[in-house]
Amino acid sequence: MRNKPDREKFRFFPETGDGREEPSPVPPEPAGKYPCPCCGRLTLPVPKEEAIAYICPACFWENDVFTPGEDEPSDENHGLTLRQGRARYYQQKRQRSSMKQREETINAYFRCWLENDPSVLEEAFSEAIVYSECYGPEYRGLGQIKQWFSDWNQRGRVLEWRVKSFLHQENRTAVEWYFRCGYDGEEGGFDGVSLIEFDENEKIVSLKEFQSKAEHEFPYGEAAL
Ligand SMILES: [Zn+2]
Repeated sequence: MRNKPDREKFRFFPETGDGREEPSPVPPEPAGKYPCPCCGRLTLPVPKEEAIAYICPACFWENDVFTPGEDEPSDENHGLTLRQGRARYYQQKRQRSSMKQREETINAYFRCWLENDPSVLEEAFSEAIVYSECYGPEYRGLGQIKQWFSDWNQRGRVLEWRVKSFLHQENRTAVEWYFRCGYDGEEGGFDGVSLIEFDENEKIVSLKEFQSKAEHEFPYGEAAL
């Protein structure tokens, strides 16, 4: 039998009622002093032996005082073992840092157009890049990208290329943006999305751009029901 401690718990189980109240998985600001057995960060307010039903706010492992071993399935964690929970935490951490790196690469690429600075291209793109623009042209290989960049900047100037949002899935990132430029004396802007694929060296190996008008009209009125 599991003994329930008298003192306050850090996570409360759902009250009996209509069942719609969900317990908060994250306790209010933890005063961490003791390491979480899963991620090792100082997130437990009491030693792990006493932290019953406490969920680590950093890795979401529910401290399981009844299954302290490394390789025993933990009921509180859907049958994961502590070793598996730790592996999951580190995998998620790596994914977060590679997402951040990809966003930095894309930001640097957009900025290099604003600053007319081709030095970023080699950093951002794989030699095997296939780049398709929204209105048809496709560039194959880094050499063609550099040629296009140089030729375009003879006649045009990018005035704005602003990221609105990123979405990540495995080795691909979708980025939604707004672009504005002057070209052959004419100025214009549009919304767009790029689907970007990264290779194992975190370089862009495929990029497809899709364009959408930035100005919208409302054939059925502006107010939605
Ligand atoms: Zn943790």
